[in-house]
Amino acid sequence: MTSVFFCHNFCYNVLRRVDMNIYNMTREDLEKYFESIGEKKFKGIQVFDWLYKKRASSFEEFTNIKKDVITKLKEDFVINKPRIIKVQHGKDVHKYLFDLKDGEKIEAVLMNHDYGNSLCVSTQVGCNMGCAFCESGRLKKRRNLEVYEMVTQILLIEEIQNIRISHVVLMGIGEPFDNYENIMKFISIINDDYGIMIGARHITVSTSGIVPKIIEFSKEKRQVNLAISLHAPNDEIRSKIMKISKVYSIKELLDAVKDYLKVSNRKVTFDYIMLKGINDSKECALELSKLLKGMNAYVNLIPYNETSHIEFEASDKITIMNFYDVLKKNKINVTVRREFGSEVDAACGQLRSKYEEE
Ligand code: SAH
Ligand code: SF4
Repeated sequence: MTSVFFCHNFCYNVLRRVDMNIYNMTREDLEKYFESIGEKKFKGIQVFDWLYKKRASSFEEFTNIKKDVITKLKEDFVINKPRIIKVQHGKDVHKYLFDLKDGEKIEAVLMNHDYGNSLCVSTQVGCNMGCAFCESGRLKKRRNLEVYEMVTQILLIEEIQNIRISHVVLMGIGEPFDNYENIMKFISIINDDYGIMIGARHITVSTSGIVPKIIEFSKEKRQVNLAISLHAPNDEIRSKIMKISKVYSIKELLDAVKDYLKVSNRKVTFDYIMLKGINDSKECALELSKLLKGMNAYVNLIPYNETSHIEFEASDKITIMNFYDVLKKNKINVTVRREFGSEVDAACGQLRSKYEEE
């Protein structure tokens, strides 16, 4: 028994030494860690200050922390960041490809808006949700991103662009609610006043609609925005393009969203990709209006970014405008997303997929 226990502990320590990146730790995690090694809890704030305010990149820079504590930190953590290996610049949109420690690739997209800089972060390598129109789904999930792999997307881009990111959307590669624990830690770090300090109202989680996770998310009581990738006004059309629709009906999805609205008092956005001949008819617009009537909902019509691998076509501009008009007439808040970044392949998973072909 003893030897098994010893072995387990030994392996745990070895693994921790190799693997535990300090950017994985929320402030609370660090406070608990310091208490567990007999140090004062406030060292958690000091470490956050070095990492996120002063942007230190080695433990040696933590000059207000005692030498023996630094030695212990070095034993227990690493402080590495992934590498940016490719950048594409467009007008007001910049796309970054990251090489992770195991050679996997992910991407982040920076958008310069009038109101600030918004970063679209990836949450997984690939995605298992298998939406028919999406490159990330085509590439399947290879693994979840660790917390540090999300946090450092922000740090690295702020560093190389010399800017401050004011808004974060979890809309890159992956389904955030399929990596729930890590994205919640990520949100905690970036929202923390001692951390990156991005206001909760400037953070948006986008989901294809994993209902139990939406319910769990409501209970977190964070003032974070939720975006639902709806893409269809009924289950019949939705199940043709989104596999998740076979697991959770639109009714179940909307019930969970209504509960979220009640608890959070935040707005919910419904994203709707305009796919030619699939979901873009006037009848669809009417049905969608009826579905969302009375909810504090915003609909975001998204011009589809065509990809070379997937046969769907983008709806014509006039079809999109007709669809928009029907929603407007029915008093649904609606916007058409500016065609951001098609020149840099900015839709979900496209840069990574191109890179893999080269
Ligand atoms: N998995 C989550 C978040 C990442 S996908 C979700 O589905 O919500 C982010 C958004 O990009 C989704 O609304 C998705 O439908 C959209 N998207 C995927 N491929 C696209 C494409 N080729 N053109 C435009 N939007 C796309
Ligand atoms: Fe996954 Fe979102 Fe792409 Fe669907 S749209 S496959 S959920 S990343």
